Amino acid sequence: MNKDIATPKRTKEILEKHGFSFKKSLGQNFLIDPNVLENIVSHAELTEQVGVIEIGPGIGALTEHLARKAGKVVAYEIDGRLLPVLEDTLSPYNNIKVIHQDVLEANLKQMIDEEFKDFKDIVVVANLPYYVTTPIIMKFLLERIPITGMIIMMQKEVADRITALPGTKAYGSLSIAIQYYMDASVAMIVPKTVFVPQPNVESAVLKLTRKEQLPAKVNDEDFLFQVSKGSFVQRRKTILNNLQTSLPDGKTKKESILAAFKEADIDPRRRGETLTIEEFARLSNALYSDFS
Ligand code: SAM
Repeated sequence: MNKDIATPKRTKEILEKHGFSFKKSLGQNFLIDPNVLENIVSHAELTEQVGVIEIGPGIGALTEHLARKAGKVVAYEIDGRLLPVLEDTLSPYNNIKVIHQDVLEANLKQMIDEEFKDFKDIVVVANLPYYVTTPIIMKFLLERIPITGMIIMMQKEVADRITALPGTKAYGSLSIAIQYYMDASVAMIVPKTVFVPQPNVESAVLKLTRKEQLPAKVNDEDFLFQVSKGSFVQRRKTILNNLQTSLPDGKTKKESILAAFKEADIDPRRRGETLTIEEFARLSNALYSDFS
């Protein structure tokens, strides 16, 4: 087996050889602990039949661990300075394709058709750039990209919000948007010391697995997310007060909003954080005809 990229010594050598300097604005915190990488990869349950999409390979620390277990890895890297580095560090592997692109701009469906035609499952595994964690996850979910799961490193605080349950402080529109599609759990907590440079915050690896069945039927998923977002604008306010200001047409429509609460059998004096996803779905369906 090739020598690991992610030891502190080898990473330093690679960075020096290529004269690479970190860009904080691109969320560049590279992993320098092979044990953490092994642990992340073990949660992805990779086999030769599995294709992996990685976001932000950096100098290839995680990429090579993925390539050793998966059939193929396609990695999106935004920073052109890393392309020659990756060509060098990943040269022992023939099952990796690096695409120089902002993943948020990528046509993922087309890439999957071209690169993963013969694969049984596709998973996303990544140490995400923290400044765009949520938009990246939501892109995969809203564009209905056919992945079976995601194993992703992020700020612990964001992982806590994604996995939060109703009635807790961390529960909000992000928990609802992601748990609508995926089962979410924290797979491991990761200390700052395994990165270079060290981030300011603690990190966590989140495991998302696609739900076999959606938790509720809604007329329009985007409208569900609009309603749930609008219900948390001011956490201390009742859901009725929040929706009166956040739904289109605002205060003039109090009667219609109250009628929707009645139809959904939900007390308008409750706060958003007490509603389950199923209740938000009922409310969103009841509001749909008047406010979508
Ligand atoms: N995977 C490497 C590791 O674990 O050591 C690097 C992870 S680092 C946290 C995030 C990487 O994502 C960086 O290489 C950065 O250049 C890249 N990146 C940042 N924004 C991106 C975007 N929008 N699309 C693709 N890559 C991005």
